[in-house]
This record gives sequence, C-alpha cells and structure tokens, in this order.
Amino acid sequence: MNILVLNCGSSSLKFQLIATDLERIADNSDQKLAHGQIERIGGAAIITLTAEGKTPQRSAAPVRDIKSAVETIVRWIASDASEIDEIKSLADIHAVGHRVVHGGEKFTESALITDEVLRGIEDCIELAPLHNPANIRGINAAREIFGGIPQVAVFDTAFHQTLPEKAFLYALPYQLYRRHKIRRYGFHGTSHRYVAYRYRTINNLLRENVNVITLHLGNGCSIAAIKRGNSIDTSMGLTPLEGLVMGTRSGDVDAAIIEFIASKEGLTVQEVETLLNTQSGLLGISGLTNDMRELLAESNENNDRRARLAIEIFCYRAGKYIGAYLAAMNGADTLIFAGGIGENSAEVRRLICENLSWMGIELDEKLNESFIGGREGIISTDAAKLKIYVIPTNEELLIARDTARLINADASKLR
Ligand code: ADP
Repeated sequence: MNILVLNCGSSSLKFQLIATDLERIADNSDQKLAHGQIERIGGAAIITLTAEGKTPQRSAAPVRDIKSAVETIVRWIASDASEIDEIKSLADIHAVGHRVVHGGEKFTESALITDEVLRGIEDCIELAPLHNPANIRGINAAREIFGGIPQVAVFDTAFHQTLPEKAFLYALPYQLYRRHKIRRYGFHGTSHRYVAYRYRTINNLLRENVNVITLHLGNGCSIAAIKRGNSIDTSMGLTPLEGLVMGTRSGDVDAAIIEFIASKEGLTVQEVETLLNTQSGLLGISGLTNDMRELLAESNENNDRRARLAIEIFCYRAGKYIGAYLAAMNGADTLIFAGGIGENSAEVRRLICENLSWMGIELDEKLNESFIGGREGIISTDAAKLKIYVIPTNEELLIARDTARLINADASKLR
C-alpha cells in the first residue's frame, strides 16, 4: 500500500510517500516514492517536490494554510507532472500517517485516528501549543481531502511513556504533576525507537535484549537510555528545550537564569523562553550559526575560537549524559549515533567519545571516518567494552510502517 506521511508544523509541511506493507516490513524492502516540503505557509511559500530518482521540482506560490499545502502536495502526487509511476490517481494513496508531537500520558503507542483519538490529541494542545494544533490541522485537511481512508497518529512522546516515575518526575511540589501533568515527556521518540529497532534487527536480538544508549544529534538533540527495549530515561523534558546543547536551544540551564536574564535584559519571561529556544545553543555560543558543518569549518579552517568553544560545549554535554545514562542503566551494550550530526560528523563523534575511554568506549578511527553519509554499521574497536554504532534514523519510515501495521491489525511491533 502507498502511504502518505505528513509532518505538519506551524508554517511548514514535510511529506514522504512510502510504499510498504507487512511483507515489505519483514524483508526491509519498503520503497520511498516521493518526498518534499512546503515552507513559509501563510505567505509566498517555497515548494519543493521530488519523485525518487528524479530532479527536485522547485516553485514559489502563495499557500494560504495547511489545508492548501496538503492539497498542493496531493494534487502534484496524483498528476502526471510528478512522474511517480505507482500513482495514477488519488485512489492510489491508501492511508495517511501523521507525525504528532505530543501524546501526553494518553498515547503510549501509535493510534488509528478516530474522533476520540482526535479529541485526545486536542487535549494535549496545552502541552505543545505550537505543534499539536498544526498536527490537528494536517489531520483535518487529510480527512477532508481523502474522505474515509485510514489515518494514523505517531507520537514523538509515545516511546518514552515507559520512563519510570523516578525518571519522569521533576523534584517539584507533587501537586504540580497532579494538577497540570508537569513531568518529563521526552521527544524524538520515533527516532530513538527506530534506531533501537534497526540495531536489534541488524544483530538479530530479541527486544528484551536491547540495552543501548541512543544519541539523536540533529538540529534538535536528545539522548535516550533504552533498557530491555524500553526507554527508561531521556534528556528532553516537559518541552524539547531540556537536555543536550542543540542548534539554537540551550538545553539544561539553571532555572533561576530565566528571572535573572529577564531583569537584567528587561525581557518578559516569554521573551527569555524564546531566547533559550531560538538564540542559544550552538548559535548562541558561536555567534555565527546553528549549523554544525559550518562551525566545524570555521573552527578548523579559520581557527574561530567561539566556533570551537560551541563544538566543545556540545560534545562535553553529550559525554556527560552518556556517563549519566550508563549509571542509570547499570551499564549498556552499545552507544548509537543518529541524526544529521551523529550520522555525518566523524569529528563530533570522536570528540564525544575521546573522554569516555575509561568506560570502555573506544572508536576505531578508520571506521569512524568512513561511516558518514547514511552508512549504517559499527565504528568501535574489536576490544571496546561498549560497542558504538552509526544508524541513520528514519522517522518517516517508522510512521509509514506503524500506519501499515495498524491498518492490518498487527499491533505487535508498535513499541
Ligand atoms: P533536523 O533535526 O532539522 O532533522 P538534521 O538531523 O538534518 O536536522 O541535522 C542537521 C545538523 O546536521 C546540522 O547542524 C548540520 O550541520 C549537521 N550536519 C549535516 N551534515 C554534516 C556533516 N557532514 N558534518 C557535520 N555536521 C553535519
């Protein structure tokens, strides 16, 4: 079956069209048919549409809202212009899988979208006021455009719902959790789950034998401790701001900093939160960019001190979390790198690992240098006590697969 995967943001929409079913899942032969994105929805949008193996088609046109964006994509997919051989008309799209950012405590796995599920997603709006409304608009648009075809919601938070209380509760007055559900939820769950799943597939392991630490290092960054196949701790918290240093987010800071910055800089609490989310992290430290590739170039070629400092702080924080999670898990078998930085930067992987040799973490320099650009495999030495893998993440594929599984009533592998 052909599944449209939608990731709707407040002003952008990304999609993939993936052919998959239970047989293809079993032999890992799913096929990506097309992908693309629409940016700057609400104004003069930039549209990029690509059939796999063909040249990307770029255009600019006004796109009013998410519904118009979904219509633009679907119209293109079903038209001759798209050159997707498998699709002749709208009827050749059989289901839609949606990335939904927040599933609160309600959704512990992906769900076939019904009116009740939609209400559940609406209930989580207060936890993700920017993201869930956009996801809901995408679901409603797809319902209007496709009528009754099955739709599935795949939640960023669901995989982390196995965290024990001691890991998900903040040391705040307990009533705040009771009253407002203030707790650690964790995000990037689809990515952490996917790479843990790939790891167990590559090594032919049972789920309960997967004891790994997964590092998703992209623009957003998070780390998860996965014990016996379940997430038992993760660095992002109530929101995706907590934890590792990210492209523009600070990650962990002393909570008192907020009031301090507000009074020193004459900002509101909301403005300080924006500063922590959009002007901090790699961008804030370097004063240059949130892009790790550019920072590495500035540091190595131009000897830029603050670029180097940003990279150092980024890697130092990641190393500290690895140590913490090894303690949380009482040891792990493997460390897995994923995300744009984790999959492509041998230098960042080396900087993160070089201080961890006492834990039995030892990179094979040659392997490390060669596993870039989407290669999947092991990069630690034979003697290393803790193995290290690079596993390119693929959240869209997992969304398509969950959609296929739920439609075929195969709920056995939703975790
Ligand atoms: P997102 O979280 O938006 O999906 P990605 O996972 O694509 O982002 O990661 C983007 C980050 O990956 C950027 O900081 C980018 O510079 C970095 N990156 C991509 N390729 C490389 C590379 N070859 N070396 C270092 N960093 C890279």
